Amino acid sequence: MKKNKGLISIFLLIAFMPVFADFFADVFYLPINVSERRILKEKYICLAGDFGIWRKPYNNLKGHYHTGIDIKNPGEFSGAIEPVFACANGVVLSVNSSRASSYVIVEHNLRSGGRVYSAYTHISDIMVSPGDSVNHLSVLGSFIDHQKLDKWGEYLNHVHFEMLKAYPKKVGTANNRDIYSSYSVDITKKSEISKYFFNPRIFFLKE
Ligand SMILES: [Zn+2]
Repeated sequence: MKKNKGLISIFLLIAFMPVFADFFADVFYLPINVSERRILKEKYICLAGDFGIWRKPYNNLKGHYHTGIDIKNPGEFSGAIEPVFACANGVVLSVNSSRASSYVIVEHNLRSGGRVYSAYTHISDIMVSPGDSVNHLSVLGSFIDHQKLDKWGEYLNHVHFEMLKAYPKKVGTANNRDIYSSYSVDITKKSEISKYFFNPRIFFLKE
């Protein structure tokens, strides 16, 4: 009987281990609804939406280096509601719901002791708040829906996905909470890209 009790304790320990394991982001998944989310296929990325390319000035934006990858809407119907997931275990650091440039930033603890921050821009219907714990099955929001794309432009039918190595930039305070943004449009020198960003491709498997 004593031996059984010992075994039961071990089983309980194993059962609760995932609770502690959730603290770390060990494995990263694509933020989109595809069948194998560990594998980054080239067809998922928009033409001219790769990491590190130069973006000429357009609209009111100055020229800058592209600091993420633009991931296409994988849905069957362009512009339909399509989920955007968190890429790994983490905690929501900041949320911004300002129209086409809405974004969510998630902070991830790495087992090695470091931290990375994933950012998802051009999303709508945001379903998380700062402080929320998330994992790779958590829906953060959706690709921009068809009605809004008609208003704002079909070119926004992608998620601009970044992996920051630097702590995001403080841009304000609301409800006693600091608000952060990425450095997306601030990078005007090639040498600055790797100071702030990882190439998101390194977090996934190649096809
Ligand atoms: Zn982009």
